[in-house]
Amino acid sequence: MATIRQRGAGPVRAAVPLPAGGESILALKRRARRINRALAEKYPYAHAELDFRNPFELVVATVLSAQTTDVLVNQVTKILFARYPDARAMSEAEPAELETILQPTGFFRAKTKNVLALSNRLVDEFNGEVPGRLEDLVTLPGVGRKTANVVLGNAFGVPGITVDTHFGRLARRFGWTASEDPVQIEFDVAELFEPRDWTMLSHRVVFHGRRVCHSRKPACGACPVANWCPSYGLGETDPAKAAKLLKYELAPGNEALLEKLLTETHRAAEIRMESQRRLP
Ligand code: SF4
Repeated sequence: MATIRQRGAGPVRAAVPLPAGGESILALKRRARRINRALAEKYPYAHAELDFRNPFELVVATVLSAQTTDVLVNQVTKILFARYPDARAMSEAEPAELETILQPTGFFRAKTKNVLALSNRLVDEFNGEVPGRLEDLVTLPGVGRKTANVVLGNAFGVPGITVDTHFGRLARRFGWTASEDPVQIEFDVAELFEPRDWTMLSHRVVFHGRRVCHSRKPACGACPVANWCPSYGLGETDPAKAAKLLKYELAPGNEALLEKLLTETHRAAEIRMESQRRLP
């Protein structure tokens, strides 16, 4: 069994079984860190793809991102935060008006209820501010561990692993975990990396899942971590065919956008926003 350590912000970890296929924990860690380095080289511009200017905007945007795309959420939150800039203003919003604004994100009635309840709770219990501790964040309506880790990692600088559908799928394909349970995946992956790497690792893995290692058609033949991935061959291995499966800035025809992101990594979020504005 792997060594068990206790993380500051979470419960005691469950024991992590030795990986299948005879790979030792040490070899697994080395391979995992090699993958992380290759992803860092491939995506030096990786960042949170939800737009936000403060913890309140990030927690609301993350709640709204359930079952929809970050691109759509970014379009909606631009209108939402212009109208309701903080928890106090949002808590006084008319539900019908909020529903109209949130409609494009889907499940808008439930999301309206959550955003209102969340804002009221922030006003009543936290003086209108988003708390910076996991144990407080997960008590907020609509906020689970995933959202709490997104907020901690990106708005408070507290290391966190964000397990969304992309991260879970890739962690299993990389052999970092065998679990389908987000909390167990978080603990299994946390064993393999230093806490200082957790937040950026989360962004890189999600970037890779969205662009290359898709759910149904992974582009194995155009994958920068193919050498260290036990799932190589799950998808298209022919380099030319695989290249056609790549998405966003890696997609054929988007070379200028990629070049811009690589040369101006510090402006990556801004460049992404500009390119999204040009979408039909
Ligand atoms: S080799 Fe294939 S399965 Fe492995 S990470 Fe790359 S695209 Fe995904």
